[in-house]
Amino acid sequence: MEIEILQKTETSVLLVLRGVPTAFVNALRRIMISEVPVMAIDHVIIIENTSSMYDEMLAHRLGLIPLKTDLDSYVLPKDCTCKSELGCSKCRVTMTFDVEATEGVRTVYSNELKSDNPGIIPVSGEIPILKLASDQKVKLEAYAQLGIGKDYAKWQPVSACTYRYYPKISVNTKTCDACGECVEACSKRVLQVKGKKLLIENVVVCDLCGDCVKSCPKEVAGIEVEPEQNVFIFQIESNGSLSMERLLTEASRILAKKSEDFVDLLSLKEDPE
Ligand SMILES: [Zn+2]
Repeated sequence: MEIEILQKTETSVLLVLRGVPTAFVNALRRIMISEVPVMAIDHVIIIENTSSMYDEMLAHRLGLIPLKTDLDSYVLPKDCTCKSELGCSKCRVTMTFDVEATEGVRTVYSNELKSDNPGIIPVSGEIPILKLASDQKVKLEAYAQLGIGKDYAKWQPVSACTYRYYPKISVNTKTCDACGECVEACSKRVLQVKGKKLLIENVVVCDLCGDCVKSCPKEVAGIEVEPEQNVFIFQIESNGSLSMERLLTEASRILAKKSEDFVDLLSLKEDPE
């Protein structure tokens, strides 16, 4: 397997994976979406709410705020030794929210959510939660815990996680006379004519639509586009709760654990006793 990183920022990555089957890439994608744990608010105790927003709606909005996650210090409630419904310091983070509109109408943002662990806070302090009219007040206590996207989408660490086949574009030099029809037909601007030659400029953005092939006026098309076998372009966008490296490492670890469990089960079956 080969990995080439095409683009990388703090919250997104564009990779080319070579020499892997579709099933492997898809398994990684599905694990990232639904099985890598992250923190999210799961219980809310409303002490006071004189705003025009229902308690349920407010709790729902708080649950959807992505939180920075520390996978080394916390465990999933089901794996915690406390076995308590209320949770403990290893499986729960307490947050408080005490806001009031003292000077006219105002919007309350996620940075007003105070956490008992300064490492577990909203990934952005600029997420609007609700609007308060004069003298309206909200006071509540919220409990965040680790969870997985399979149980609820609020625990999903990625906002986008997709892969597509790597395009294989070949120019048939016998029939192509670089007329430029395909250059015009391509909405992604993959092709270019330079000095009577058709050149492939930006192969990564090609989505295999085939418009270039259809636009060729020649009887035998001067250009061919097909998916490259076992090569994929993988695009991942994290919502900020985990770093890209951690997200990919955790997903790979979970996949490896599944394979180990499978092998263990097989060896149990093979055991004559
Ligand atoms: Zn616990």
